[in-house]
Amino acid sequence: MDRRDFLKTVGAVGVGIAAADASASTAVHAPPDAFGVLVDTTACIGCRKCEWACNQVNKLPVQPLEEFENKDVFAAMRRPDAGNFTVVNQWAREGREGNVWAKVQCLHCNDPACASACLVSALEKQPNGAVQYDPWRCMGCRYCMVACPFQIPAYQYADALSPEVRKCTFCVERITAGERPGCVEICPVECLIYGKREELLTLAHERIAAYPDRYLDHVYGEHEVGGTSWLYIAGQPFPSLGFPELGEQSPARITENIQHGIFRRFIAPVALYATLAQVMWLGSRKDEVAAAANG
Ligand code: SF4
Ligand code: SF4
Ligand code: SF4
Repeated sequence: MDRRDFLKTVGAVGVGIAAADASASTAVHAPPDAFGVLVDTTACIGCRKCEWACNQVNKLPVQPLEEFENKDVFAAMRRPDAGNFTVVNQWAREGREGNVWAKVQCLHCNDPACASACLVSALEKQPNGAVQYDPWRCMGCRYCMVACPFQIPAYQYADALSPEVRKCTFCVERITAGERPGCVEICPVECLIYGKREELLTLAHERIAAYPDRYLDHVYGEHEVGGTSWLYIAGQPFPSLGFPELGEQSPARITENIQHGIFRRFIAPVALYATLAQVMWLGSRKDEVAAAANG
């Protein structure tokens, strides 16, 4: 048995224990008034204006529009970082000539693993759908970065005095004031649609039903990791657009069940190995998906 198989086996054992231990339902419901964004990747033209608007709204370092007109960045897949809360990646269109593009940012999970991992509640799901970060509470442990199944939170390593965890804020000040997020407002082809999550889900399924040749029958984020506030529809499988294949159970629930088990049954060694194995396995899956998608 090699190291990878060992980690998978230990992970499976630990998760089995946790599942057996879990008496609570694994279903996660978004707050009833949660907002969200539906991203229609079949409409995106890869203009990167959403990246520019995001940096403007959040006063991030790179701001000149010319910087975002450079399409050379599409040569490699990018992840959001401390200076760019959203990035657009380019992918080969399956079955036809040309490319497709997919915007990436925090998906504002219904039951966020980042918040579950945070010991001081510096990340919290809000009734409006946003997973909000409080730098005053953050102690810089970066557990949230390890826990996120989408590899979203980034750390300001360059800021020696008061580094923060950075990620998409869901433009919470704007949505609180009744405005749309900056990226949504600027998108010239309206491939980003802002609204109540429940209404966006209805819209997504209506589009899929109306144009079955255009869309796959899958709304990414409807069920993945317990559901997310940002939802995606696409014309090809999501792994080919850089999205990890994830189950419906929230990683936060798995961790919590294991933690309960630790205290109730003293299964600490196996459970802790299971948690670590699962995080490492998820990480290696994400790398495999990224490598496969990059060809
Ligand atoms: S995508 Fe990652 S950072 Fe965003 S809410 Fe979910 S777990 Fe947290
Ligand atoms: S919602 Fe706001 S912070 Fe998030 S990607 Fe869009 S512009 Fe950036
Ligand atoms: S602004 Fe809209 S069309 Fe342009 S890259 Fe962003 S999501 Fe795509």
